[in-house]
Amino acid sequence: MYPNIICTRNVSPDVIRCDCRSDREDVPGLGYSICDERGYLVDVLHPIIDARDEIKAAIRREQQCENTDEDRLAELEGRSGALKWILVACFGYQGFSNAKFGRIECHEASNAFAREILLTAKQRLEAGGWRVVHGIVDSIWVTPDPDVDDDVIPLAAAFAAQTHGDARKAIDLMRVADELTEREGDARVREEHVREAQAKVENNRVLEVVRWISTQKKLCLYATAAVAAQTTDGTARSTTGYRVYQYLTDAIDADQYHQETYVNKMKELTTYSLVDFERRSHGPSSGMFLEFQFAERPDTVLETLREDSRIEMVSDEEVESVVKAQIRNQS
Ligand SMILES: [Zn+2]
Repeated sequence: MYPNIICTRNVSPDVIRCDCRSDREDVPGLGYSICDERGYLVDVLHPIIDARDEIKAAIRREQQCENTDEDRLAELEGRSGALKWILVACFGYQGFSNAKFGRIECHEASNAFAREILLTAKQRLEAGGWRVVHGIVDSIWVTPDPDVDDDVIPLAAAFAAQTHGDARKAIDLMRVADELTEREGDARVREEHVREAQAKVENNRVLEVVRWISTQKKLCLYATAAVAAQTTDGTARSTTGYRVYQYLTDAIDADQYHQETYVNKMKELTTYSLVDFERRSHGPSSGMFLEFQFAERPDTVLETLREDSRIEMVSDEEVESVVKAQIRNQS
């Protein structure tokens, strides 16, 4: 959590309490200002965080696949652990009295932000039907509210685990489920409220992303999601996705970009956390491709994109048969 605080709040010795922003109080409780210019520590930590996120995604994939390679898993976990310690040391170093590139205010500011995040998490958890038992530094222990059915929390956790395994998602789900329970005038949060909440959260997430993207990006996304919806592991190879993209652009008579542009558009879409990718290769002769994986169910992405009148023109059965033929071709 601390390295992420440093990067998202721009906590860096060269920009904290700078003169140009001395009128502002950016750090909660301490009143320090932070410059709008990006600090050096963010430049240092960002690539390490990104590299670790990629390794963590690979770990998740290795754990989920049918015959997990334990050696590869151990290697990936070792690499992730090594990067974690570099990151943690970068935070600790800010508070070291002889640090050449450190500054105690950065250490204080990181702690102040962490405290604020913990308090916000407490409020949200309590609003979502939990009781906080204990909280320290970057961890929080909670127990379900007695007004929540026993099967509700495991279900919310299972929904969250389907995608990123992110605790924030489970908390969000519980908050929405609690709202739905209240709106429907029920006294207890039940399983159906969580299911309703899951559908609502998922649709909102996808809508939020696709509402503002160009038709070309929608076509790239639709093609890739159509592939992911048909594969057994829910992933889509860029090479296969591109074939389906070509079919779609032909079908609606839209401009057709090269594969490189398709890949770049898909990569740009990863910034919304709706889709993620990993570089892959199947032997030296087959070349590299990207493997895309969606954070929400690919079917939700397809349904939402079909609200676009141009995409709606294409028959979904035809797309499905094109996708199936392309998947058969790839093996
Ligand atoms: Zn400044």
